Amino acid sequence: MKKYFSFVPKFDSSPSPMGIVPPLVTEEDQPLVTDNVPKHKEDYRINLDEFKLESDPGLRNKIRSYPCNLQDSYRRAYWLKGPCQPILTKFPCSQIGGQGRRFNRAWYTEYSEWLEYSESKNAAYCLCCYLFKPDIGDQAGGETFVGKGFTNWKKKEKLDEHVGGVNSAHYQAWKKCQGLVHQPQHIDTAYNKHSEQSKVDYRIRLCATIDCIRFLLKQGLAFRGHDESEDSDNRGNFLELLEFLSNHNNEVEAVVLKNAPENLKLVSPSIQKDIVNAAAIEILNVIINDIGDECFSILVDESRDTSIKEQMAVVVRYVNAEGYVIESFLRLEYVTSTTAISRKEAIETLFSRHKLSISKLREQGYDGASNMRGEFKGLKTLILKENPTSYYVHCFAHQL
Ligand SMILES: [Zn+2]
Repeated sequence: MKKYFSFVPKFDSSPSPMGIVPPLVTEEDQPLVTDNVPKHKEDYRINLDEFKLESDPGLRNKIRSYPCNLQDSYRRAYWLKGPCQPILTKFPCSQIGGQGRRFNRAWYTEYSEWLEYSESKNAAYCLCCYLFKPDIGDQAGGETFVGKGFTNWKKKEKLDEHVGGVNSAHYQAWKKCQGLVHQPQHIDTAYNKHSEQSKVDYRIRLCATIDCIRFLLKQGLAFRGHDESEDSDNRGNFLELLEFLSNHNNEVEAVVLKNAPENLKLVSPSIQKDIVNAAAIEILNVIINDIGDECFSILVDESRDTSIKEQMAVVVRYVNAEGYVIESFLRLEYVTSTTAISRKEAIETLFSRHKLSISKLREQGYDGASNMRGEFKGLKTLILKENPTSYYVHCFAHQL
């Protein structure tokens, strides 16, 4: 098959902008390198092996037979591979007008960019027209250089006729082929450039949002304002802080609030909550890792939120690796009812979610509510039954 490869682009091994690694070609692998291959072809790197291209132009499928979204990739691959120009010791002879005529290999040099020869059909083809010939009937030699192939070896002038002037179908096809490899004009390049910039902008915007949220979380400040509309005097801590940040940083100002895309401002309450949740998970992981396999105790208080949902605030108390006593709030856990059993279930769920074992529990402290205090029905008893070493200490705050 080597003889079919008239041009093998030699690339460096750095990854291409499209993430396609070019083939490694050694000097010996190149059976025939034509000197008049356009230099710009090397600008566009592509792995030709991926496409399983048919070398023989007489046996190729039509470009239109490929899926629409892949047609341009195939065109580019064929164009980069170059025309099929096998060098045969003797091209087959055919009788034309009583004389034996055959393909002339010197034509390769003259029409180096597009002329192809098919061994299977003993016919000449045009690569440009194969890739881009429009369906406009019999123009430009009709299907001669695309379908059945050119075999009239006696009339070499037909090749020049095929090339034609600037309005010929062949010339139009050739210009489109140039566009395939002229990277800066290529739509993929324009798209990639655009998407690269929007990725950078998005990252700056996201970092600004995260920084504001981290600040508010650290200071324990409220996020939302009563009136967050654009003409409000005070749009709430989060939006005001983001605006403050943008006023003091040109890079941030260019991509946030008014300068952000309408549907990607990253300031909506749901996004704020998502990021807060992400921060909560990260902090919880740090606390749980800090506890490790050591013993710990829990302090639980109950309350109702504004929507009258019952919830428990769970605090863990433990001694860390440096020997300090640490008290950390874990989270608010919603309970379906105020019974001891549902509270116990909620605590078990919390423990299993964070891989904490009830067997490591050494202390439990609750407030003075009735269902927490009961000797037998209360939560403490349920936990004590499971782990007798989880001693109960009444909450001192409530005793007072
Ligand atoms: Zn052509």
